[in-house]
Amino acid sequence: TSASAEAEQTDGFHLVIDALKLNGIETIYGVPGIPITDLGRMCQAEGIRVVSFRHEQNAGNAAAIAGFLTKKPGICLTVSAPGFLNGLTALANATTNCFPMILISGSSEREIVDLQQGDYEEMDQLAIAKPLCKAAFRVLHAADIGIGVARAIRAAVSGRPGGVYLDLPAKLFSQVMDAEAGAKSLVKVIDAAPAQIPAPSAITRALEELKNAKRPLIVLGKGAAYAQADDLVRDLVEKSGIPYVPMSMAKGLLPDTHPLSAGAARSTALKDSDVVLLVGARLNWLLSHGKGKTWGEPGSKRFIQIDIEPREMDSNVEIVAPVVGDIGSCVSALLDGMAKGWTAPPADWIETLRTKREANVAKMAPKLMKNTSPMDFHSALGALRTVIKERPDAILVNEGANTLDLARGVIDMYQPRKRLDVGTWGVMGIGMGFAVAAAIETGKPVLAVEGDSAFGFSGMEVETICRYNLPVCIVIFNNNGIYRGTDTDPTGRDPGTTVFVPGSRYDKMMEAFGGVGVNVTTPDELKRAVDAAMDSGKPTLINAEIDPAAGSESGNIGSLNPQSVVKKK
Ligand code: ADP
Ligand code: MG
Repeated sequence: TSASAEAEQTDGFHLVIDALKLNGIETIYGVPGIPITDLGRMCQAEGIRVVSFRHEQNAGNAAAIAGFLTKKPGICLTVSAPGFLNGLTALANATTNCFPMILISGSSEREIVDLQQGDYEEMDQLAIAKPLCKAAFRVLHAADIGIGVARAIRAAVSGRPGGVYLDLPAKLFSQVMDAEAGAKSLVKVIDAAPAQIPAPSAITRALEELKNAKRPLIVLGKGAAYAQADDLVRDLVEKSGIPYVPMSMAKGLLPDTHPLSAGAARSTALKDSDVVLLVGARLNWLLSHGKGKTWGEPGSKRFIQIDIEPREMDSNVEIVAPVVGDIGSCVSALLDGMAKGWTAPPADWIETLRTKREANVAKMAPKLMKNTSPMDFHSALGALRTVIKERPDAILVNEGANTLDLARGVIDMYQPRKRLDVGTWGVMGIGMGFAVAAAIETGKPVLAVEGDSAFGFSGMEVETICRYNLPVCIVIFNNNGIYRGTDTDPTGRDPGTTVFVPGSRYDKMMEAFGGVGVNVTTPDELKRAVDAAMDSGKPTLINAEIDPAAGSESGNIGSLNPQSVVKKK
């Protein structure tokens, strides 16, 4: 019969879906349109969860953070040319942050694109993606879909994780092939991110350095959080007795209240340490490239680095003991070595950091407790700090300039991978994408603490949050502008370049889509509103009125702004 003849055939659509399912892909983040609308529909029908966004960059950011949270590649699905380019920003950001992600974009007809004959959404997407991600592939034959998907998955998660582009031309989807041959062409990727065992000599060298240290320090980065070797990392700190500083997305690997946390004594710890063990953290701008006054006297530092990427070593300064391998295997080998003989670091170093930390915490405390109206950043964050303390399993998404810098210092984290933020680029716009994926991937409540400016980059996704009824509570730190709400146009013609409409009510946006909107003016009101949102699990947006004069230019990184040397009279 014709039915059984049909049953013996498969096509590109189904092969893509079968290949993803075979490899445990459960969720796709994307924006529908030509030529991938039906692919999305069919994915949904086949049981893959499809989360449709309003803009591809937000879908891409969602996929990227899903990769970080799960160690499986997050998938973003977009249309051709403009949709692809929107997703590409997120793919590049994922690659920069070492998050595994696959951007799958439909594309136009090769024959027309390559002759530049002006196809619908014509663009040579593969060529454009290549320099911006870890690997890029195109599949032209349905029989190669299995291999294409397998290569993309392996490239994303093995070694240093990153973004992969997979180009699927429109024609591929309707290509037909024999169903049995199709099934056989699929590949289930075995051991996609194999353990990478460090050389024993590298471990001996690293332990020698640590043993000779008088003021050792461990720096934990988001690579350590990604590795999900949480118990080993905790053992490394506790068994060695070495104080540690967490990078922002490594906060909570050990609770920020841990006695060996030197987070609140960061400057002293970086400046005065003599031997520094980097665990999944790069010596990039976020660590002042391992040099300069942040790191004390020139030549006063000896760096040990654990990283899966051999070429990361000596990227900025000399690494005297490189330990190349995955963090679980490396830390475990260090612990084995320490078990054969280890003395805790000198007590005066621990004491110096403890004293400094307590002094800094005490200095900050009164600022966090003021019940003022209008709020400033500290008084508002004081309330949110308590929320996370009371709900340590909630996920905190954080972006903005001052909102980011101050929240990072004020809000203690207690569990691994609970703080998601702007990452290596310090990019604004990750907020709603990260919040959606965090809720979907973990099922935990999400608190997104957003500067009013940062929120604007992904704000339309509040509709997505309402549509999927996600337990996301967004708090907008509304100080009427970028950095501050006080700039004016010297000519008097327009608003200042960094200000927004004064008194904007972002909470009304949420109400437009059936979510809960609340406007608050004091820390007490803020705390109550967030608690209510977290208890109910209803999509909520809280507009927190912050003094427009509060906030400093570019937050903590104002020094990165170039200064004009020619002052106009
Ligand atoms: P942070 O910004 O928190 O300092 P970075 O993103 O700069 O962190 O550094 C993370 C590092 O972790 C990268 O160099 C990456 O190669 C490394 N990394 C990621 N996953 C692993 C892993 N499983 N094992 C070892 N290193 C890893
Ligand atoms: Mg602002």
